[in-house]
Amino acid sequence: MENLIHEECGIFGIYDPSGTNDVASSTYYGLFALQHRGQESCGIAVNDRGVITYHKDVGLVRDVFSKECLEKLGKGQIAVGHTRYSTFGTVNQTNAQPLVVRHVKGQMAVVHNGNLTNAPELREKLELQGAIFHTTNDSEIIAYEIIQERLKTSSIEEAVENVLDVLEGAYSLVVMSPEKLVAARDMTGFRPLVMGELPNGETVFASETCALDSLGAKYVKDLAAGEIVVVDKNGVRSITSHVKPIKHMCVFEYIYFARPDSVMEGISVHEARKEAGRILWKEHPVDADVVIGVPDSGLDAALGFAEASGIPYETGFSKNKYIARTFIQPAQSQRENSVRLKLNVIASVVKDKRVVMVDDSIVRGTTSARIVALIKAAGAKEVHVRISAPPFISPCYYGTDIDSKKNLIACKYTQQEIKEQIGADSLGYLSVEGAKEMAKNPQCEFCVGCFTEKYPAPIPVSQEKSQFEKKINVKEEESVDERERVHGDAKEF
Ligand code: SF4
Repeated sequence: MENLIHEECGIFGIYDPSGTNDVASSTYYGLFALQHRGQESCGIAVNDRGVITYHKDVGLVRDVFSKECLEKLGKGQIAVGHTRYSTFGTVNQTNAQPLVVRHVKGQMAVVHNGNLTNAPELREKLELQGAIFHTTNDSEIIAYEIIQERLKTSSIEEAVENVLDVLEGAYSLVVMSPEKLVAARDMTGFRPLVMGELPNGETVFASETCALDSLGAKYVKDLAAGEIVVVDKNGVRSITSHVKPIKHMCVFEYIYFARPDSVMEGISVHEARKEAGRILWKEHPVDADVVIGVPDSGLDAALGFAEASGIPYETGFSKNKYIARTFIQPAQSQRENSVRLKLNVIASVVKDKRVVMVDDSIVRGTTSARIVALIKAAGAKEVHVRISAPPFISPCYYGTDIDSKKNLIACKYTQQEIKEQIGADSLGYLSVEGAKEMAKNPQCEFCVGCFTEKYPAPIPVSQEKSQFEKKINVKEEESVDERERVHGDAKEF
């Protein structure tokens, strides 16, 4: 495997009280804006007076949905959509979301982002009660739990409220019942979820504000940790029984996952990355002639570094934008070239210069080594690597594929050794304190678990990440092979 950090999932929901919005198309545009959060599969479910029609498949939004396909989804008043990257479960159509189920009180569609840390235990409990699972993803567990509660309660929102006590870990959810749209965020607030409003009164939920912008929706709020928002014919109301005053959102959303034009918890992702660059300069100053950023999420941090240091900023790389899914992964012996194919150095920018190269992370170190080698081959005198994140020292259990310790370079080597392995003249990581400072907000502390091994919520009983995955019968090899085939453009060069 290469250096890999993949985005998580993008979720979207819309409720149209007037019934005049083409909710399928609106969801399609919303998912388009959330494509960066997952490129394996996607889907849309449309609710027309209690009857849910859906379409989902493996592939990008542009490939899975045609005009005809959207027309077949038809008109409706409510819709939900999903773009998926699986940190759990194999890549196939069955595991794609939305998960649409039928139960005694009608149909229900669920989309979610995040990983449940108690998924194996919940799944085992449900299976012992007779549940038969069709997928290997957490959404089906969530759906089962909601349905069980729905049979005991008088409304879907009460069922979701009760389920918040059962689910552990990271989840932002949008649930569509025959008459309602319900959005909820876990009590730690790991994954983002925002609410917006369209000019005709439609309510929209999305993982990021860039999806609201794509529809011309006005931002209303970020859901609080543990908040549930219900939309139905009576309007919009919030359930706050599980709300926690402080979130611990994933700081890596700011560093890498989110789109730079999104605003999370009131802070622009672009500005947060620039601030990380400024802090990096304070923490790791260096004499140099030019600052360049590794596309895409290293660019904003590089701008901040240049601004704070006074060292000129330049575009150092040309990225091949057309290399996405159709790219045939090279054999191991050709990996060196795979960096070149995706990213090329602009030689005139670096030749005979002392270069500061800003990137967002180092996972295994192989990609960084190849990029440094490219810059040196283009004639740079020195390459000083600055990383706008702290070193990864522990896995993520909350919906990203930051891997087991054995695959993280910072768990095996000192910073001096990493510097030598990647061929840099100096190496500086953002400190954990710096990461917390980059998007400082009184309502939001951050999860920094993968940088500190201190997690803000329970981690799985089996802490070896691969064991955790095996417990729910994921065929790991199949999953990895399939990812290699499907993925083109994640943090993978
Ligand atoms: S462990 Fe790391 S990647 Fe996972 S939620 Fe926390 S900060 Fe984000």
